[in-house]
Amino acid sequence: MLKSALLTAVEATRENVVQHRRHLHRHPEPSFGETKTSAYIAAALRSIGIEFSDGWCAEHGAAGIVAKVEGLDAGTRSMALRADMDALPIQEVERPHASAVPGWMHACGHDAHTACLLGAVEALHATRDQWSGTVHCVFQPGEETLPGGASILVQEGALHTNAPTTGPRMAGGPLVDGIVGQHVYPQLDAGTVGFRSGAYMAAADELRIRIVGKGGHAALPHRTVDPIVAAAHVITALQTVVSRSCDPTQPSVLTIGKIRGGYARNVIPDEVVLDGTLRTYDMATAEQLRSAIERVAVATAQAYGAIAEVDLAIGYPPVVNAPALTESCRKRAIELIGAQHVVELPLRMTGEDFSFYQREVEGCFYRLGTGGDGPGCRSGLHTAQFDIDERALTTGTAMMAWLAATEV
Ligand SMILES: [Zn+2]
Ligand SMILES: [Zn+2]
Repeated sequence: MLKSALLTAVEATRENVVQHRRHLHRHPEPSFGETKTSAYIAAALRSIGIEFSDGWCAEHGAAGIVAKVEGLDAGTRSMALRADMDALPIQEVERPHASAVPGWMHACGHDAHTACLLGAVEALHATRDQWSGTVHCVFQPGEETLPGGASILVQEGALHTNAPTTGPRMAGGPLVDGIVGQHVYPQLDAGTVGFRSGAYMAAADELRIRIVGKGGHAALPHRTVDPIVAAAHVITALQTVVSRSCDPTQPSVLTIGKIRGGYARNVIPDEVVLDGTLRTYDMATAEQLRSAIERVAVATAQAYGAIAEVDLAIGYPPVVNAPALTESCRKRAIELIGAQHVVELPLRMTGEDFSFYQREVEGCFYRLGTGGDGPGCRSGLHTAQFDIDERALTTGTAMMAWLAATEV
């Protein structure tokens, strides 16, 4: 009964969700600068008649929103739903609904996440006399940029059921029972979703190694400390960090993606800078590899008389889906859209700040298939061609509403 009522409500909101997504897609905003997006969400919530708190992440220049939708017996259970809302500095290809902001584009589908969550709010509100509890809908800024909007929202207490609607915020009080988030996925057809229990996405650290030598004439190397030769050996030695210092059953990647140093073919420079990324699934492994990187870089540079300064910015933790909640979400997804539309996901080495919520409460981060035959509907995330098959918006709206309204 709840299922048919929710599906009817989702169908009624379908056009609105498409319009929300197209509007947001035309007006992308950078991480921690989502003020117009926030105002749009606030206006949509007011028109539905939903209470919300705004100004989350304000110290970072952003404007997150947490909306509360109450069903029967509002105090009995509380689930959180999350949508991120920032865009990327990418120039979108030309097409009718393309971004109207030069150089900025919703190339990670966060416009779709926000539109689906607005649709879910509307559907949950329309069926509020048919489900129990309170649903906290988190519209989160700054997913794409460190330190991640999720980490700030957690510090500000967004997962607390008694979070104040105004004034200074801080963590304290009872937490929501769990949180569910979805992310578009062009590899899966629209109408399909994917789950993975346990570790799903990697922790991503940012690495910078500065190798300092002593520059001079290329023909007089004995009077210099050549940082280029030292850097070459450091890069080669770093290849043993994963192969020799990591438990082989733990997936991990260390990539140096950028080398900068030197001016001319006949000049030995003073320094070389290496930038890279470390991806892991397990905090103990990450700790071990971070110290191995430091050890190998410093000692290898030293062998050539140079100094290595290692700077490791610790990024988002790994996305680890709580097994009980994830299995329950998978089961309920099958009830909603059928087993043939629910698939198992492979591990992914990309990162997501949803992991900060998962450190506080049980969380399930699943994938919403957005693939289709239209132009760009199979293109990868973070590309100028990326687009979604809009039929996925209905599935995304229904899934979020259904997972919030039904019991774990
Ligand atoms: Zn992204
Ligand atoms: Zn994303």
